Amino acid sequence: MSDKTIFQMIADREIPADIVYEDDLCLCFRDINPQAPIHLLIVPKKRIIRIAEAEACDQNTLGHLLLTAQKVAQQEGFADSGFRTVINNGADGGEEVPHLHLHILAGRKLTWPPG
Ligand code: C5P
Repeated sequence: MSDKTIFQMIADREIPADIVYEDDLCLCFRDINPQAPIHLLIVPKKRIIRIAEAEACDQNTLGHLLLTAQKVAQQEGFADSGFRTVINNGADGGEEVPHLHLHILAGRKLTWPPG
């Protein structure tokens, strides 16, 4: 059994995903179980397990994920209408995949607080 996370397998093209953006540091693809009309995930190619385990050397990668959210929002045409970014962390945070990822939700009026 591979030690790779499912997101590393997507980055390595071992399992399919609807990829909308890629660069040296990250990959962005459509969530297979969308919670909004637009639901994207931005995943760093270097595995960071979760925010709680990120290190100082991850600072550039973490900042890059947010700037990629901005770039993808412009590319996909929802930068002006608005969007939400979410990082789930740990059991109570709703994290399912232990490979840090930034959710981008858009395409409808989102409510607050989240469930
Ligand atoms: O933040 P959390 O870990 O719960 O999010 C994992 C997300 O990864 C889920 O929204 C799930 O639908 C998505 N996923 C995916 N493609 C996979 C496996 C999971 O988009 N192959």
